[in-house]
Amino acid sequence: SPPKNNYIPGTVTNENMANYADIVEKARTAFNSNQTKSLHLRKHHLRQLLKLLKENSPDLQIALASDLRKSKQEAVLFEIEYLKNDIINALNSLESWMKTERPDKPLINILDDVLIHKDPYGVVLVMGAWNYPLQLTLLPVVGAIAAGNSVVIKPSEIAPATAKLIAELVPKYLNRDAFPVVLGGVEETTELLKQRFDYIFYTGSTSVGKIVRAAANEYLTPVTLELGGKSPLYIDGTVNMDIAVKRIIWGKCINAGQTCIAPDYVLCTRQIQNTFVEKAKQLLKAWYTDDPKNSPDLCRIVSEKHFVRLLDLMTNSGSISVGGRHDKKDLYIEPTILTDVKPTDPIMKEEIFGPILPIVIVDNAYDAINYINSRSKPLTLYVFSSDQEMQNLFMRQTSSGSFCVNDTVSHYAVENLPFGGVGLSGMGAYHGKHTFDTFTHRKSCLVKDFNIIGESFSSAKYPPYSEKKLSM
Ligand code: NAD
Repeated sequence: SPPKNNYIPGTVTNENMANYADIVEKARTAFNSNQTKSLHLRKHHLRQLLKLLKENSPDLQIALASDLRKSKQEAVLFEIEYLKNDIINALNSLESWMKTERPDKPLINILDDVLIHKDPYGVVLVMGAWNYPLQLTLLPVVGAIAAGNSVVIKPSEIAPATAKLIAELVPKYLNRDAFPVVLGGVEETTELLKQRFDYIFYTGSTSVGKIVRAAANEYLTPVTLELGGKSPLYIDGTVNMDIAVKRIIWGKCINAGQTCIAPDYVLCTRQIQNTFVEKAKQLLKAWYTDDPKNSPDLCRIVSEKHFVRLLDLMTNSGSISVGGRHDKKDLYIEPTILTDVKPTDPIMKEEIFGPILPIVIVDNAYDAINYINSRSKPLTLYVFSSDQEMQNLFMRQTSSGSFCVNDTVSHYAVENLPFGGVGLSGMGAYHGKHTFDTFTHRKSCLVKDFNIIGESFSSAKYPPYSEKKLSM
């Protein structure tokens, strides 16, 4: 049976608040006493994290099912295996990532050592999100460990079963002082953010991202903010519509649309809208049957609050052409397509984060580009077109965190591509080596010796100054 969610968010006590200072202090002592920095220890901690995932996969799947009714396939592919592959990649590449860099040096430094040393920041805070509550909490942790930091891990209270399991498991596999897990909601997070960290990595909404950045300003702590927003999708008549519809509906339906890079809405001509809707209707039936509520492959909405919000958006925007059924008791919303949606409709005013796909009619690609550019910069922009000029037009004329042509979501899994937003969709990026780089301070080092020839090169810098020295 699923683990019991007996954690009650929102209960800060003085004891808790004192604890946060203590927790961070212990993590700092662990860092300063070299419990996280050596290559050997970094690898050990990464192997332990890998072991945690391997040994507890069934329990993790249960927790994910309890929080989101996540299917085994989505739990394994998008959370557990994804993390395992990232750890294996870090273990295989760590030595080369850590290597000191020696950039080209000017003539004046020809006898010196000029190098970039890869320093860990120290104590970092990682705050995870609830939609992929395991992956989005531990993926940054992998890079933070690889880079040699202590990590305070804060899972999201909105996925309580997974948060609780992370808090139970991590201390069994990792050094408790160096890698503490803190549970809590808004009040606890507010208190936690008063502590001094050397780096903060936050995944969640833009509004809380601003709060995190403001808190970080107190100590000028650098931040990575992995935020959200509306990711548009433009589709034209040059595509293979059968394949395009599969790729688009899949991106919208995984995790019941609660994916930060889910295609939020479609921009297309009226003619494309009609073809798209017909094909999508058949596809949804083939995937989830006539009774999608009973399909084991569809996740549930995370909370009643989000369910009510989504229902309100769905019933007050455009017209329902596909789907629309829902069940509050089960937090179920059927995959739904809304047609002839107006830019002024409520669903176009906020990130949807649910299995509802609105279609907004545009006259052409230029119209779509104007629409996109007059709104805040998206996390991802999707273009479906076989015309390379069209693809390039969107790539050059728009700004978004990432850009994906003729597929959805898959760019997330290309580990050599940095993943992150721009503008209100976030700052900084991670994945693969980019996560290591995020948690690494590149320390510029100049190392000289007392060689007499080297000293003569720089003798002109000493007083007494003269016109002659100036011209040397
Ligand atoms: P949220 O920002 O509302 O909440 C995240 C956490 O912040 C919570 O766990 C809570 O404890 C804390 N929090 C909330 N209000 C706070 C406050 N006033 N002060 C201090 N802490 C506070 O996140 P959400 O809305 O649950 O997450 C959904 C958003 O996250 C979407 O916008 C989605 O696009 C985005 N997201 C982005 C990515 C990415 O990788 N870029 C991934 C997943 C989700």
